[in-house]
Amino acid sequence: MTSEQAVARIDPWAVAQQQFDLAAERLNLEQGMRRVLREPRRELTVHFPVKMDDGSVKVFTGFRVQHNLGRGPAKGGIRYHQDVSIEEVKALAMWMTWKCAVVGIPYGGGKGGVIVDPKQLSKKELEGLSRRFFTEIEVLVGPERDIPAPDVNTTPQIMAWFMDTYSMHQGYTVPGVVTGKPISLGGSEGRNEATARGTVFCIVEAARHLGIELNKAKVAVQGFGNAGAIAAQLMVEEKATIVAVSDSTGGIHNPNGLEINKVIAWKQEHGTVQGFPGAKDVTNAQVLEVECDILIPAALENQITAANAGNVKARLVAEAANGPTTPEADEIFWKKSIFMIPDILCNAGGVTVSYFEWVQDLNRDHWSEKVVNEKLKEIMVRSFQETLTIARREQCYMRTAAYLLAVQRVADATQLRGLYP
Ligand code: NAD
Repeated sequence: MTSEQAVARIDPWAVAQQQFDLAAERLNLEQGMRRVLREPRRELTVHFPVKMDDGSVKVFTGFRVQHNLGRGPAKGGIRYHQDVSIEEVKALAMWMTWKCAVVGIPYGGGKGGVIVDPKQLSKKELEGLSRRFFTEIEVLVGPERDIPAPDVNTTPQIMAWFMDTYSMHQGYTVPGVVTGKPISLGGSEGRNEATARGTVFCIVEAARHLGIELNKAKVAVQGFGNAGAIAAQLMVEEKATIVAVSDSTGGIHNPNGLEINKVIAWKQEHGTVQGFPGAKDVTNAQVLEVECDILIPAALENQITAANAGNVKARLVAEAANGPTTPEADEIFWKKSIFMIPDILCNAGGVTVSYFEWVQDLNRDHWSEKVVNEKLKEIMVRSFQETLTIARREQCYMRTAAYLLAVQRVADATQLRGLYP
């Protein structure tokens, strides 16, 4: 079996439950509470028709899962990808519950997805698919119940279609039903950069803790979309050197550094980072293993496994992506003393500014980018330090520490609310 086949067989839901079980055991959670928190509250599967440009009708399958609503309405993005599955959406929904709890924002966890390669659709087909999918999941969503947002391959334009669809059905404009909208429709300043900015706030804290000087640090980034490309730009602002990046077509490497704005322009023109002048084309797997101080996985789940974790050279791994590291790879990192900023903390900047957007929408308010970034920094730095304090106190891995913090908060809320009826 090749390592790619091994990766394809890893079930993200099994990984998510395994991570939860470890935390529940360590927290000595009561068995009934464990049973409640280790399953999603609601899972919806929809099969829906879309009229294609050639007049034919195609049926697509999509999901919306709400994992836990103990601390507030469900929050979580919607992903468009050919490999979306119910197991993946369940895992992502559970991770959202812990993420919102780690940063202390008043939400539960949800996630959605449609099995589709959006690159194969025209803009009209994409709009038709988005509007019909949102209509199908309207039994669950709403500004007080479940608030979707962008994820892989979903954009501010798609959020605008979601918001308009819901608003047409209500008969009035409801900006608070989704976040990640264009600014002219009630989107927040700073939302587009928020995930990456939150990641970089965490990296700055971690680098200080580890004694890494960012102006001398070499960085590799896997995934060159919203999270990865902007994280690379922000790391350059911190004076770090980006030595390798990749997208779904492959990667590029230059040990002396890549000019990130030129790589972004190259990708816009050519649809790939590969072939960038002055850099060597490498595979996605090689990008994870290049000589560097900081590795930022910012693509998909299960990229770092037992098969390749031992080859990672970085001292610090910052998970901008959700679920890029398997539990077996975590054990290898722990033994190698590689410092981990876990996804539920590291990429929580996105949901945090989504929360700011929702608050602004509900209050018909609009904050400046400066205010948004200051509030984001305060939350990310505080959450990082709270997690680090637990990791030091318990002598444990940072992922375990983040889980201890998050699961305890959700368990406390669930306990206080009690069982209905
Ligand atoms: P995106 O669609 O903007 O970008 C994804 C990038 O990953 C693209 O460049 C794509 O080419 C690349 N990619 C896909 N498969 C790859 C592979 N096998 N190897 C290397 N690159 C690959 O998506 P995004 O919003 O940047 O999301 C990336 C990750 O960040 C996901 O795990 C997502 O759940 C997570 N995340 C995103 C947000 C957000 O606000 N956008 C928030 C939290 C977490």
